[in-house]
Amino acid sequence: MATRKLLLLPGDGIGPETMTEVEKLIAAMNREHATGFETETALVGGAAWEAHKVSLRDADMALAHAADAILFGAVGGPRWDGIPYEHRPEAGLLRLRKELQLFANLRPAICYPALADASSLKRELVDGLDILIVRELTGGVYFGEPKEIRDLGNGQKRAIDTQVYDTYEIERIARAGFDFARTRRNKVTSMEKRNVMKSGLYWNEVVTRIHRDEYPDVQLEHMLADAGGMQLVRRPKQFDVILTDNLFGDLLSDIAAMLTGSLGMLPSASLGAPDETTGMRRAMYEPVHGSAPDIAGKGVANPIAMFASFGMCLRYSFNMIAEADRLERAIARVLASGLRTPDLAPEGAATVTTAAMGDAVVAAYLAD
Ligand code: NAD
Repeated sequence: MATRKLLLLPGDGIGPETMTEVEKLIAAMNREHATGFETETALVGGAAWEAHKVSLRDADMALAHAADAILFGAVGGPRWDGIPYEHRPEAGLLRLRKELQLFANLRPAICYPALADASSLKRELVDGLDILIVRELTGGVYFGEPKEIRDLGNGQKRAIDTQVYDTYEIERIARAGFDFARTRRNKVTSMEKRNVMKSGLYWNEVVTRIHRDEYPDVQLEHMLADAGGMQLVRRPKQFDVILTDNLFGDLLSDIAAMLTGSLGMLPSASLGAPDETTGMRRAMYEPVHGSAPDIAGKGVANPIAMFASFGMCLRYSFNMIAEADRLERAIARVLASGLRTPDLAPEGAATVTTAAMGDAVVAAYLAD
């Protein structure tokens, strides 16, 4: 079997603690099935600054280019607030996203039955929820020019942001959305504001064309983004893949995430274009949460977001669907058995450590 090259970038704070738990699973999978994961570990963020006075070394960037996929922990913390701007911990993360051209951000919102009561919505609306937001990450209004506050010279100023999308940017994110839908329930809901924005009108046109020409087997529906936000909290289970731009995706993915409860549960992926020869996408997988300096080093961080990020890596980089499903079942079983890290536990309930939660997930995976 070909080796699967994984670069581990644990980073700062709870990044290394939670990565350690996933490394236990990778080792167990390699022993059990000879899955062929070959891992390398490098420093990023504040940890890289401490060792090398940069947030990511060129040599480690080269490792990232050579890897089939990257698992990333988290970066940052108050300890590095005062270091030069270009070396701040987040610069390492941004360099990875930029140089690897990771234009598609994937955020699943999965609600495990055992945690359905922790959602702000009623249990029946979220129990068993499994949706995927595919957000365009490198274009749109966050990057469009002009972007400025202009002095009009009459005592007034004008603030300008520019929402701009070129054809190829919409085409590639649309293809990503349709590709991922094919690995799931085969439905895409594209969200924009074609009623008031030219970029929304064009987004709709390009998505419709890509669907007609390349993905007629996938079900496509269009929804105005504001109506989509409303439907997300009204009847979230109607969605499978939500395909949207950078701005609306930022808002909609945070709404979807919170349907499912704790920050310690949420994975994400950032993907690039498929390689022309291998078909593999450049890919980085990371929890949504940050380095949580308030709990770092205490052994209480919830490792499930890190496990779930690895699950996305199995599914989307290595097409190991059975293993990804098995890992999701393992997480669901451990939660159903009542094990809780402090972030998931109601006041006064018993809790377990990061390592105990990690061991339980690995054991549940192996027992399946
Ligand atoms: P955070 O996500 O680190 O923490 C927010 C709260 O959630 C904290 O109380 C934390 O203890 C808790 N929490 C987060 N993950 C948890 C987990 N797995 N288990 C249990 N509790 C968890 O966000 P923040 O406090 O705003 O930021 C802290 C640092 O992380 C900052 O330096 C910020 O810049 C950085 N950050 C990094 C990333 C990233 O690396 N992708 C993302 C967000 C924030």
